[in-house]
Amino acid sequence: MSLTTAARFADHRRPSRVGTTTTDRAELIHDAQTILDGHTCDAVGMCAGCRVMWNRLTPHPCTQASWARAVVGRLPTAETLTALGLRTA
Ligand SMILES: [Zn+2]
Repeated sequence: MSLTTAARFADHRRPSRVGTTTTDRAELIHDAQTILDGHTCDAVGMCAGCRVMWNRLTPHPCTQASWARAVVGRLPTAETLTALGLRTA
């Protein structure tokens, strides 16, 4: 491991870089919601977003929609953080 790589690794492990901030989470949830809004199920059970964006015929939920659904389902929303007293409105 070179000194540069070791320094980069040590920097990555600092407590200030561990975890995500409330803003990071809000942006992540926003991005995930945007993906969910675009990757919807069409009339025959395929992903409309994948067909429009990449001309792919993919069963719904596609990989992107599954990821976004998992993110939205697992991370607390800003309203939840406020209700738990972990964030000020
Ligand atoms: Zn899709």
